[in-house]
Amino acid sequence: MNATEYKKQLLNELYKPYQKCKGCHFSMNPATQIVFGEGNPDASLVFIGEAPGREEDLQGRPFVGRSGKLLDRILQAADKSRQNVFITNIVKIRPPNNRKPLLSEIESSRPLLLNQLKIIRPQVICTLGAAALEGLLEKPIKITQMRGKKIKWNNITVIPTFHPAYILRNQKELHKLVEDISYAISLSS
Ligand code: URA
Repeated sequence: MNATEYKKQLLNELYKPYQKCKGCHFSMNPATQIVFGEGNPDASLVFIGEAPGREEDLQGRPFVGRSGKLLDRILQAADKSRQNVFITNIVKIRPPNNRKPLLSEIESSRPLLLNQLKIIRPQVICTLGAAALEGLLEKPIKITQMRGKKIKWNNITVIPTFHPAYILRNQKELHKLVEDISYAISLSS
């Protein structure tokens, strides 16, 4: 069994108890399903977003709505695809009415994210939006000050950037998102 197959198996084992859990934060939510993440289980680059939206909740896949299409286009322009990287969220279930995730939701999703990262062991993490970076570092940050800056977290290089949804509303900032993702890709290859 190669590393990719082995890590895929470990991820599936990690997910199993969550699919069965009753009465926990995951099962109490009115969301359709848990969106664990997808991509290469042995990826050197992991993207972490905020939480699934409507499309993601329906399809059970991260970043498949408008933000995801933008992320796909940026990856494609850098000769990458979803299959080369791993994409997930800090919170794994859609918050009701797409509201910002609560601190309690971030806290209860965090162990799952940390275990995913322990299995994947990426060289680089690119966080998309303030919530993802705050959830990872467990402290408040200003994304305008942090974006594009290389930081270290648990021996992994982290490149924070804007959330693609913010860029869709502020298209003049698109070059910054492209620049940060390209930087993250270059550090991970
Ligand atoms: N926004 C996110 O933060 N994550 C998704 O998966 C989709 C949209």
